[in-house]
Amino acid sequence: MNERIVILGGGESGVGAAILAQQKGYEVFLSDGSALAPDRRRSLKSKKIDFEEGGHTEDLVLNASLVVKSPGIPDSAPLVQKLVAKEIPVISEIEFAYRFIEKAKVIAITGTNGKTTTSLLTYHLLKTAGYHVALGGNIGKSLAGLVAEGGYHYYVVEVSSFQLDGIVNFRPDVAVILNISPDHLDRYDYNFNNYVSSKFRIVENLTNEQAFIYCVDSEPVSEQVNRRKIEASMFAMSASKNDKLSAYLKDEHLIFNYQYKQDDAKYQIPLSEISLIGKHNMVNSMAAILSALTMSVPIEKVLKGLKNFKNAPHRLEFVREIDGAAYINDSKATNVDSVYYALDGVKADIVWIAGGVDKGNDYSHIERLVSKKVKALVCMGKDNSTLVEYFGGKLNSVVEADSADQAVELAHELADKGDVVLLSPACASFDLFSNYEDRGDKFKEAVNALGKKVKINES
Ligand code: ADP
Repeated sequence: MNERIVILGGGESGVGAAILAQQKGYEVFLSDGSALAPDRRRSLKSKKIDFEEGGHTEDLVLNASLVVKSPGIPDSAPLVQKLVAKEIPVISEIEFAYRFIEKAKVIAITGTNGKTTTSLLTYHLLKTAGYHVALGGNIGKSLAGLVAEGGYHYYVVEVSSFQLDGIVNFRPDVAVILNISPDHLDRYDYNFNNYVSSKFRIVENLTNEQAFIYCVDSEPVSEQVNRRKIEASMFAMSASKNDKLSAYLKDEHLIFNYQYKQDDAKYQIPLSEISLIGKHNMVNSMAAILSALTMSVPIEKVLKGLKNFKNAPHRLEFVREIDGAAYINDSKATNVDSVYYALDGVKADIVWIAGGVDKGNDYSHIERLVSKKVKALVCMGKDNSTLVEYFGGKLNSVVEADSADQAVELAHELADKGDVVLLSPACASFDLFSNYEDRGDKFKEAVNALGKKVKINES
């Protein structure tokens, strides 16, 4: 009889794992405690994969020889506890998928922030170089789904801590940790150290044949690197320190001291060659460039890819110029930390559009930067009182809007040639919009409409 594999959870990763397991000859059963999305249900049915939804039948789960648990299900779930008590191995979907990757190389990227940007850029650099590469994990398709498709030579995988919690043999050829700051603590007994340890599981199976790329600007990261003995080829990067590192930022250049296997090279890449903006994105760029170099992408191809990369929308996304001012959409910046990086990255006077649902923001962290760079603030929200109170006496101009159209019009009046109008809200969006994407889209529509109007008036 075939080995029985049970997949817990029928989202992207669960369905991907089920398809791969079936392809590899397992007897497969998928069980989801809630209802499945119609397209997932269809895809299981079309492949004749056995499944249940809206609840778990214990007898059908506890007879598994192997269980693949979706990242959304915590270890504390009673069913998972029962599996553990019965000593039935429970692994994550990336662990399962990894077991079927033979010759292809894996680049795994984790961190609290910047995973998507770095994964997209790494994928883009390899793709531009003509590599047969797939992108997946936390972003887009599951790794298992990609492995089931087959034929890829490289996998760029965005990896969450939940996926890392369930690994056993997972050993990426390149492991990246961008940064670690408190997040998802509800899944880690409200203990930050547990979350940090979970992220560092990405290096636990490495040897000096694999590369580990990490950013020393993040204290929890550098502290762990100092404390642990990591068996990998190490690449340290920083956007603020600049000695004896593999990659750092200096005088408007990214500097690389690249040593790996037989290669030993120095590169200086002017920031003007990079389409991304902001200091945080320079860390993301360094990580992607180092990843590409370790995969033997020639530097000329790296440069070409850097220049024409377009990030996912709503992350410091250039929209257009109107009357000599650039309009930038950073709607994804829903907390003060993200706004810090956005303000820091813009090299011009800023008309800042912020506001929405304030989750208890502490603006003191960005106050100095705001007084240095922001000439006017347009508050865009149903209730702007917190922002108005905080910055009212500190900036020359603080105005209020209750729609993207109105905010853009006000910003246009306040902006001069050479300025940047920056939507970087520091707040959630659901007072005026359905989500941050909707907010960013409405902002872009308003900017483009105004741009057209101004152009017509000029002609
Ligand atoms: P993730 O996939 O980890 O959520 P994204 O690439 O989608 O990361 O970026 C989300 C937000 O995190 C961005 O809008 C930016 O404000 C912030 N960010 C991106 N990269 C970094 C970084 N290296 N360090 C700190 N913050 C970052």
